[in-house]
Amino acid sequence: MERDGATQSLWQREEINYTEVNFVHNSKDIFDVIIIGAGITGLTTALCLQAAGKRCMVLEAHKVGFGTTSGTTAHLNTVLDNSYSKIIKNFGLENAIRTAEAADLAIQSIESFIAQYGIACNFTRCAAYLYATEEKEAKELQNMQEAFHQVGINSSYVHHIPGPMKFKKAVCVSGQARFHPTQYIKGLLKAYLELGGKIREKYLVKKVQEEDSFQRVLSADDGVYDAKHIVYATHTPPGIHPLTFKLTPYRSYVIAVELTNRKSYPNDLIYDLKEPFHYIRKAKDGESPVLIIGGEDHKTAHEINTVHNFQKLESFVRQHYSVQRKLYEWSSQFYESADGLPYIGYLSEKKNKFVATGFSGNGMIYGTLSGKIISDIIIKGKSKYQNLFSPSRVKPIAEFQSFVKESADVIKHFVSDRLSVDKLKNTVEIGKGEGRIVKYEGKKIAIYRDKEGELFALNPVCRHAGCIVQWNHAERSWDCPCHGTRYAIDGSLLNGPASTDLPSLKLE
Ligand SMILES: Cc1cc2nc3c(=O)[nH]c(=O)nc-3n(C[C@H](O)[C@H](O)[C@H](O)COP(=O)(O)OP(=O)(O)OC[C@H]3O[C@@H](n4cnc5c(N)ncnc54)[C@H](O)[C@@H]3O)c2cc1C
Repeated sequence: MERDGATQSLWQREEINYTEVNFVHNSKDIFDVIIIGAGITGLTTALCLQAAGKRCMVLEAHKVGFGTTSGTTAHLNTVLDNSYSKIIKNFGLENAIRTAEAADLAIQSIESFIAQYGIACNFTRCAAYLYATEEKEAKELQNMQEAFHQVGINSSYVHHIPGPMKFKKAVCVSGQARFHPTQYIKGLLKAYLELGGKIREKYLVKKVQEEDSFQRVLSADDGVYDAKHIVYATHTPPGIHPLTFKLTPYRSYVIAVELTNRKSYPNDLIYDLKEPFHYIRKAKDGESPVLIIGGEDHKTAHEINTVHNFQKLESFVRQHYSVQRKLYEWSSQFYESADGLPYIGYLSEKKNKFVATGFSGNGMIYGTLSGKIISDIIIKGKSKYQNLFSPSRVKPIAEFQSFVKESADVIKHFVSDRLSVDKLKNTVEIGKGEGRIVKYEGKKIAIYRDKEGELFALNPVCRHAGCIVQWNHAERSWDCPCHGTRYAIDGSLLNGPASTDLPSLKLE
């Protein structure tokens, strides 16, 4: 299956094909809900709504699973990336307890969808181990353990972890799980279609227009679809609106290896407390076990040599495990919210548009939860978690600190990228397989030379907010440092928030 990068993830081996029976689109038809995006969030939402009798249409710009859902590592954990001590600080204890309860509900929901719809996706219940190797980390782990207890998560100190790493302190948390993400969404899609749900791939939504009693969804030139409700399950919502400034895009790196000793694969999830931290699990590649290790995160387009991140990850793995061979390496994108919790719920004041974003590295959990919350609001008029995750919540102090930090980067890119002059004077200096921003006849251009030597030149100004894109060598893409839009080497859009391609330039 296709993904939004040049590297291949383990999960892409799964082909997601389907047949839709007898679907002829009547342009007068008004759906109850149009869901934009066919990752875990879109398909969970669509299935929840269709199963409750709503008539749904899923519109996907590329193919099912094209986004981060096929670039994930699929830990299903109540141990969230943003620590509970931070959530307690920003939202209070009661809301932190509710967050832990919601994360647990998400795992239970995945488990019950799997049972109800007979989805074969290697779902396995397990524990999570967190370990500290230094005094500073041990202190942090102690804070985390105290916060786990405060929010009701079952955890305890242990003297053993299911890995070879040496540690000062470790905690085991029960009630976690792991699964195969693309097999899972394939199962969600099958169930959704069997319930009469509709889907259209290769349909990039460019605009949503308010009509009197419905909303009209438009692509460039490919027909329109109408619905009473719209759900943006696009990972990051397109366009510029208040949420744009509360989301920060990050890249994270993953490798999957075969170990020399079959007994070394851990059954449980493992996390260290480095900054950024490493996350480890086992999975199956066909019938063979593999170890998957993630980490080396950085803000999108803020790392000059992204290949180096894979090398650092591999050296971390080889330092601890006896590796037979490396099987896969891939990277993917996630979005941090300003205050540590995702934004799930109403996008518009008219209460007919919904959004689900800011999942950090917990989108299997929050994407599933989004499906539950948004479908509850549409069907029952409310959700128990609606206020906690409301996109319009205001957390002035937490958000302001984050806004200052993140905006400084955005402003820097608006100004200095436009003034900086690349020393490269002509394209001849660009090696095969390399991309660069160069000054060419007085203009900045994004230039890439492919393996055969052919040159591709693009206007490097991102179509979202006007920042200059940067070359991502590992994924052979042009990535925007401000809000994370990504483009392929021919300028075609890989992921939003922009919704148009980078214009290509003719080279004399
Ligand atoms: C390396 C990595 C590891 C991770 N590991 C974990 C983990 O272990 N556990 C966990 O819980 N989370 C993890 N996450 C996070 C999680 O994978 C994501 O949050 C989750 O997959 C997001 O799912 P989604 O459906 O919201 O978005 P996506 O999967 O990105 O899907 C969005 C879809 O919307 C489509 N789309 C976008 N714009 C438009 C448009 N205008 N018109 C039509 N379609 C559009 C896209 O093509 C895409 O297919 C990880 C993330 C990364 C980067």
